[in-house]
Amino acid sequence: MNVIIVGAGIAGLSTAWSLVRTGHQVALFEQGPIPNPLAASGDHHRIIRRAYGKAAGYGRAITEAYEAWDTMWLDLGRSHLDPRGFMCISREKGDEAEEMRDGLVDGGYEFEDLTAAQATGRFPFLDESSIRFAFTSREGGALHCRRIAADLAEWLTRHGARLHEHTRVASVDPTLGSVKTADGTVHLADRIIVTAGAWVPKLFPDVTRDLTTFRTAVAYLDPPEEFRSAWADAPTILDVGGDTDGYIIPPSGDGGLKFGSGLHKRPAADADADRSPEAGEGEAIRDLFAAPFRRLAEYRVTDVVSCAYTFTEDERFFAEVRDKVLIVSACSGHGYKFGAAVGRRAARWVDDADTAGLQRWLRAEA
Ligand SMILES: Cc1cc2nc3c(=O)[nH]c(=O)nc-3n(C[C@H](O)[C@H](O)[C@H](O)COP(=O)(O)OP(=O)(O)OC[C@H]3O[C@@H](n4cnc5c(N)ncnc54)[C@H](O)[C@@H]3O)c2cc1C
Repeated sequence: MNVIIVGAGIAGLSTAWSLVRTGHQVALFEQGPIPNPLAASGDHHRIIRRAYGKAAGYGRAITEAYEAWDTMWLDLGRSHLDPRGFMCISREKGDEAEEMRDGLVDGGYEFEDLTAAQATGRFPFLDESSIRFAFTSREGGALHCRRIAADLAEWLTRHGARLHEHTRVASVDPTLGSVKTADGTVHLADRIIVTAGAWVPKLFPDVTRDLTTFRTAVAYLDPPEEFRSAWADAPTILDVGGDTDGYIIPPSGDGGLKFGSGLHKRPAADADADRSPEAGEGEAIRDLFAAPFRRLAEYRVTDVVSCAYTFTEDERFFAEVRDKVLIVSACSGHGYKFGAAVGRRAARWVDDADTAGLQRWLRAEA
């Protein structure tokens, strides 16, 4: 079939990859460059991890996620996963770190418990007095998003897909199976897959029934010299405990030490609103992490990256079919790690039209 894909984040690129592998003709439209630094997939790195707390279905789906990435690495000729593992730090009873530990216990997955003293001994940037316990697992790490996008774009071009960078799709006609680009050109296809991330509501305004747009930012930090080598060897940190809702990726690939927190996100009018970082924004993000770190005020902000993303009410992934169009949004702040697997599942829909099955899988109910 001839398939048009709208949006070259990880969902669109992976869907294109999988469609090409299964013999379909693909045209991919991206409003910016590939990778697009304004996309949710456009930052240097994202976390992959087994721990999922109460959303245990996603924890189980990590097996398929890893398997899909491994297939992609074989095609690309190199891996873009830094398998440095992950750690969670609990500071208060019942916090998210504790929930994630419970999820690993329930699933029978391996991890290593650390007392506060053991954690601080291994990772001297931690402050022992604020920690209840920590745990680490080897099943996680950092995915190098920009390198993945660049390699996928090159692979797709080499295998006959047509990539249209800097070409915004202005509208989609589900019944005709056509897209109109911003210059007025109309392109026809047998199927259209819309993987436009936080921009989906601009093409289909009524999806705001299910998808709410938020704006957030992450801070890249330069730690004090004393902690640099410990950070270089540290695992990704999924949760820093308490109510910080904070995660950290140590320097990995082309990306530096990055701090982000769910507390920093706020509703946005649309994906393009408010994208310039505000004065002092990096320091404000850093200071959300006062515990459990030592000498945090000495970490220097080197960059702030803003981001737009959509959430569903229950933070599960979303898909909807309208005639010839499939809309896929695997986000709610945790979709990158499933990117290759989402692409394979979306591509499978072109062949089997099993929308209910795709939705169940995206909601981790399968
Ligand atoms: C701060 C932050 C941290 C996160 N951390 C993690 C993490 O650690 N682990 C994890 O698994 N997930 C994480 N996520 C979620 C993850 O980034 C997303 O789930 C994933 O990147 C979504 O990919 P996507 O392809 O659906 O959307 P995007 O990456 O947003 O891609 C959509 C693309 O479509 C293009 N586009 C939009 N409209 C049009 C149009 N009309 N015409 C042409 N092109 C168009 C856009 O330019 C963009 O390139 C995080 C998200 C954020 C914001």
